[in-house]
Amino acid sequence: MNPESTSTPGGKRPLVSIIIPMLNERDGLATLFDRVEKSIQNTPVDWELVIVDDGSTDGTRDVVTQELKRFSRWRVVGLSRNFGQQPAYRAGLAHATGDAVIFSDADLQDPPELIPQLVAKWLEGFKVVTGCRTSREERGLRRFFFDLFHQTFHRLTGGVMPPNSGMFSIVDRVVVEHLLATRETNLFLPALKCWYGYPQTTISYARKERAVGEPKQSFVKLLRYALDGLFSFSDLPLQWIGMTGAVLCLLSLGYAGVLVAEKVLQLFGFFPSLRVLGFTTLAAAIFFFGGLNLFALGIIGQYVARIYRETKGRPLYVVESILDSEVQKKSSTPKNPA
Ligand code: UDP
Ligand code: MG
Repeated sequence: MNPESTSTPGGKRPLVSIIIPMLNERDGLATLFDRVEKSIQNTPVDWELVIVDDGSTDGTRDVVTQELKRFSRWRVVGLSRNFGQQPAYRAGLAHATGDAVIFSDADLQDPPELIPQLVAKWLEGFKVVTGCRTSREERGLRRFFFDLFHQTFHRLTGGVMPPNSGMFSIVDRVVVEHLLATRETNLFLPALKCWYGYPQTTISYARKERAVGEPKQSFVKLLRYALDGLFSFSDLPLQWIGMTGAVLCLLSLGYAGVLVAEKVLQLFGFFPSLRVLGFTTLAAAIFFFGGLNLFALGIIGQYVARIYRETKGRPLYVVESILDSEVQKKSSTPKNPA
């Protein structure tokens, strides 16, 4: 987008909303806001902060509201309980008024110092600019599963989103409107924001370790998130089940043919006796095919559960409170004495 093209007759600069979801992030807030402010001040845009408190229990909502008072444009959307990172980002989208939005986690793993690069690419005309991780500081099992997910996702979906990317990005209003109009309960925004098309590009960066505290996406939450991504962007697993079934049918037909041929040859005296399968072979075959059936059912179940969730049409999140810089300004303005 060209800044001039969004300028109002009054010559206003484009507005960028920075959406940050938070679950118990009170300890890192001061540094986060300092770094975001320093970084975005160097860009030719106006900005607002849209904080979504996803049911924090450590007082994040109050601390955030205090910290934000030094900024001119902000909103704190408080959800009624913990709904998860993706619904929290979706709530932020619904309350962002910018010509573009930046998605950023609160833990400083994605350095705010990259915001000027995101904004510059957006001003060049790209509708989605995504941060791609050239390296990660996470180690151990978490790291292993992150890598496994990104490789599998890329293979299954044929690259709907840039490899090794996540939420950290800037998205133009035109795409935001599509996201708002898309009614999906099994949300996987990292890929969905890229799915609509339009000119897109990436920036590269090294992903840091969390600045403070423990990861708020537990292993179970991350697994559900990964499965939502895989199953809502690919039906290849269903095709694989069909193909495995077809291959197994062909193999068993072939094996039946071999057994019949042996029987006929034996009748003509070519074999002294019929081969008899041992118990171990039979037991192994029964366990194997039983397991394969359950596995296939499990994969189909993943799709069925998601269809079920979609058809219920429950809201993705419930907003309990909204605090706004405008409302705060009005309420703190001294009233004229009568
Ligand atoms: N988060 C949230 N709700 C949740 C879990 C996480 O709003 O249920 C927020 C969290 O506070 C952080 C961002 O989502 O701002 C990413 O969480 P985290 O750093 O734990 O996840 P990871 O780095 O493993 O993706
Ligand atoms: Mg994180």
